[in-house]
Amino acid sequence: MALKFITEADLKDKKVLARFDFNVPMDKNDSSKIADTTRIDEALETINYILKSGAKKLVLMSHFGRPKGEINKKYSLEPVASYLSEKLGEDVILTETALDRGIKTLLNLNESRVILLENLRFHPEEEGNDREFARQLSTYGEVFVFDAFGAAHRKHASTYEINAFYKNKAYGGFLLKRELEALEKIINHPKVPFMAIVGGAKVSDKIKIIETLLISVDKLFIGGAMAYPFLKAQGYTIGKSLCSDEDVSLAKRILNTPSKTKIVLPLDHIVSGALDGKPEVLDSINIPEGKIGLDIGPRTLAHYQDFLKNAQTVLWNGPLGLFENKDFSKGTFGVAKTLSELKAYTLIGGGDSVNAVKLSGLTDKMSHVSTGGGASLEFIEEGSLPGIQALKFGID
Ligand code: AMP
Repeated sequence: MALKFITEADLKDKKVLARFDFNVPMDKNDSSKIADTTRIDEALETINYILKSGAKKLVLMSHFGRPKGEINKKYSLEPVASYLSEKLGEDVILTETALDRGIKTLLNLNESRVILLENLRFHPEEEGNDREFARQLSTYGEVFVFDAFGAAHRKHASTYEINAFYKNKAYGGFLLKRELEALEKIINHPKVPFMAIVGGAKVSDKIKIIETLLISVDKLFIGGAMAYPFLKAQGYTIGKSLCSDEDVSLAKRILNTPSKTKIVLPLDHIVSGALDGKPEVLDSINIPEGKIGLDIGPRTLAHYQDFLKNAQTVLWNGPLGLFENKDFSKGTFGVAKTLSELKAYTLIGGGDSVNAVKLSGLTDKMSHVSTGGGASLEFIEEGSLPGIQALKFGID
């Protein structure tokens, strides 16, 4: 059964319930200001399409942050409602809660076409994938649209169980379509040479993706804090760099497979005595005692660039250093620039590398920048996601 997309839906005069991922980062200095509106901007095509198709009502829903099943104003979708209203040029009514009694009344009023349900995660039933909660949500719409790619790896009431109430009436949105098409280019017969760059800090979170990627890539560059367990596993010294014993065991497991020849590790580093200390170029793989590796060094960057210029497909997930600090950002921004200049298909598949690409102003120069880090990694690992399977096949 193929996934049905919104262009196949008859939305005229229908009440439409639509799940998006409006879990946007907020400004650290002003908690009412959205720091990056990409996820909302990327949803606008679907929202506008639904409205232009003559839907009678559009009920939007999303989670936001981790309020752990309790009402907490800090996690209100209020800033999202204001931004959406500004972008759509019409009122967006934010409900008190997702189960607010007033919603039924709103649905029967002629004015206020667009309604945004308050944060779904104010209700423990959302993350509990509760069927009764999903049923209550489903009473708001005759048709269901799913465009929350960033939440599609979650088996929650609004991403999974809800499909029990929309047999043959559930459709994917445009963002979901774009994300899936991009991932399929990586998974199904990527143009070779196919190279992947994996950075960041959590080896245990990314071990599966590394193992999966090693099957299909020609080269895998491991940078950022991810590199130290691999270097330590090979017998190099890593000073005070971030690294756990568990990560070293995981790295050893990977280095014991024949695919280890595909792995490219740092040749040099930018180190410091402290996270906010002075940066020093260290022209050796070994890091002395007392120093922390905080970025890949210039030789490593040049080495990566040498390989990457021949790539036809590149996947990047995770920064190559503590890039939030300018002194340790050269590797990450250098790789972003290199990718932006390639003729290859470039997919930026995750949280912090997406930020780095945005900060460099290079988003438009990449083939695809995913809105869902966790979701895209899980899709590559598993070949699908619970939210997409449920949308495609329905659930009993
Ligand atoms: P992840 O969520 O696993 O992609 O990790 C992203 C985080 O890893 C970012 O906040 C980076 O600053 C951090 N990071 C990357 N490289 C290093 C490093 N060498 N030392 C400490 N943190 C790092």
